[in-house]
Amino acid sequence: MRYDDFVPPTSRPGPRRRPVFAAVALAGVCLTSTGCGGGDGGTLPDDAEAGAARPSAPASPGTPSPKPSAPEATSPSAASTSAKPKPKPKPPARGPLTGRTVVIDPGHNPGNRDHTREINAQVAIGTGRKECDTTGTATDAGYAEALFTLDVSRRLRTLLEEEGAKVVLTQDGDRPFGPCVDERARIGNAAGADAVVSVHADGSATGNRGFHVILPAAVSAGGADTTKIVAPSRELGERIAGKFVRATGSAPSNYIGGDTGLDTRDDLGGLNLSTVPKVFIECGNMRDPQDAALLTSASWRQKAALGIAEGINSYLMR
Ligand code: ZN
Repeated sequence: MRYDDFVPPTSRPGPRRRPVFAAVALAGVCLTSTGCGGGDGGTLPDDAEAGAARPSAPASPGTPSPKPSAPEATSPSAASTSAKPKPKPKPPARGPLTGRTVVIDPGHNPGNRDHTREINAQVAIGTGRKECDTTGTATDAGYAEALFTLDVSRRLRTLLEEEGAKVVLTQDGDRPFGPCVDERARIGNAAGADAVVSVHADGSATGNRGFHVILPAAVSAGGADTTKIVAPSRELGERIAGKFVRATGSAPSNYIGGDTGLDTRDDLGGLNLSTVPKVFIECGNMRDPQDAALLTSASWRQKAALGIAEGINSYLMR
């Protein structure tokens, strides 16, 4: 098995380091009384930001714009000439991934911040209960993680569809909030996905840089059972990590995973409740200026999507 430029060594199990969590909490960013561990927002620092992130209108370059409105609906004169047929949907491409199903889970939802009550409702995640969803983090300039995840996920969908895959998004900016983390897992399960990737970016301290892939721990509790997906998910995660390094030039996280770019967690409902191979990727740290410059760049996001797509392809074609 070859990972091109980067072979992630086996990540070490054991307690995760949480140096940033304390720093963030001390800085007063964590506003909850129950601690900063939130939903499936990725790492604890990310989750710590979740309740506080209220990004205003994103001002960063390369910010994905909302879905373009249909031009034919904007003027009366256009209506009279709208007899021209709508373009037919393109038939699915045929390619190496024809017959395979990939579910992409864009982390959070831009509307979550306006639905605090709904996303704070508790759901069962096997190892306990947790918020339905979280708002996610943002760059200091206000570019929301929820917009980043949607943009990368859409780019990823395009790349995978070009290879023939059937692609399902758990949300496409088409619902007011959520879905809840348990529903996100069920969508992958119901689709019979060959692989699921949940796309995120972290909210850690300045100086903490790089990406990491989160793998499901072996969990058998509360109706959750990841026994059968631990090994294939690790395979998926290692291949994504290797291709991500190659496509983006980013290094594995310098603050989580001991330079492996891999972390294993048992506190994420989206992983615990999955019955199909699934990983999360934290593409970078939105709170670090250097990482933020990458995350807000459309061309970098394309590279990120390419790296993830190539990792999925490598896993599915193995
Ligand atoms: Zn997140």
